[in-house]
Amino acid sequence: SVKLSERLTRLRPSPSMAAIDEIARLRREGHEILSLTVGEPDFPTPPHVIEAAVKALHDGETRYTSAAGIPALKRAICDTFRKGGLTYSEGEIALGAGAKQLIFSAFAATLDAGDEVVVPAPYWVSYPDIVDLFDARPVIVRCPAAAGFRLTPAALEAALTDRTRWLVINSPNNPTGVVYSAEELSAFGAVLARYPKCLVMSDEIYEHFVYDGHQFTSFAVANPELEDRVLTINGVSKAYAMTGFRLGYAGGPAWLAAAIRNLITQDTSCANSISQHAAVAALTGDQSSLAINRAQYEGRRDRLISGIGAVPGMRCLAPEGAFYVYASVAGLIGARTPAGETLQTDSDVASYFLREAKVATIAGPAYGLSPYLRLSFATTVEVIDRACAAIAAAAADLD
Ligand code: PLP
Repeated sequence: SVKLSERLTRLRPSPSMAAIDEIARLRREGHEILSLTVGEPDFPTPPHVIEAAVKALHDGETRYTSAAGIPALKRAICDTFRKGGLTYSEGEIALGAGAKQLIFSAFAATLDAGDEVVVPAPYWVSYPDIVDLFDARPVIVRCPAAAGFRLTPAALEAALTDRTRWLVINSPNNPTGVVYSAEELSAFGAVLARYPKCLVMSDEIYEHFVYDGHQFTSFAVANPELEDRVLTINGVSKAYAMTGFRLGYAGGPAWLAAAIRNLITQDTSCANSISQHAAVAALTGDQSSLAINRAQYEGRRDRLISGIGAVPGMRCLAPEGAFYVYASVAGLIGARTPAGETLQTDSDVASYFLREAKVATIAGPAYGLSPYLRLSFATTVEVIDRACAAIAAAAADLD
């Protein structure tokens, strides 16, 4: 009879997509839901980017491109990397339908059954799930709040084996906001020097969102001697509020970039031609939206941190980057709701807040560390303030 592949039966639906569906359902039923689940900027795409997309349409740029991308975008990507201290030639880059397609393709191109991928937790859920799809094993390294959610060289060393094919580093981090310093990154590099079969996937998609004067450093900049083992992942989704354009890019050793491009020829053929033209405008045009939006996010972050600070039973560290707060709900576990139920897990807490406070969040199991809720501040100050007040009231109703 007809069946799914063994691999697909292991695939869990994305928890953030599940949250989006649940919010949509509640809204259809007439509930007003305050959502702190958003994983994308709420700011408009810059007008010059929109104009470039419209112009591309009128100019007839509506056909397949080379899998390697249009020449102007390849140049723009290399120039953008160079501004960040990374020298990649055009043969060393690949572009795709979002950073996610590059992450997927990089794992597809390199993993076999039995291979291991070290993923520090809390993590963005897609890494372990994609690794799993290619029959490899995600090796999760817990980075507890007591260690600031930070990976340490000792914890990294303990996780590496001669089957490790990748270490995934995501700085600024989704969901914790950790931003690794150059010193921390080179300490990881020193450990990896002893594991020559291990590649590093450095997901830098939140590079432009850093707060309190923290400095963003690329893994490959901190570890020039590992240059031929680092795949730097980036894209225009978050930086330029272009999530729907689906345009990401990667830089790394030529053999790996070529393998990814090759795979993409059998997948989507190439990135969307209109998005490629829009991305050229984003990367080479007026950059002022980056600083303006960063300042907005920092203000929202401060509002969210102080709001959470006033909720009995919740605590959080101030994220140094990205646009999420990973808040502990340890103080609410074991509490009884007015309906007489006991909150046993962070997922119970998330459901309680959704039901009672009409505030949507994503619980820790999506990120591999409990008991926490991820709260996004990619939303207005008004939503943040109302959500915090509603959460505080619901928490105060607990016994
Ligand atoms: N990497 C991280 C850490 C993310 O949080 C996301 C999106 O949520 C992505 C990559 C995917 O970005 P893109 O829209 O470029 O596929």
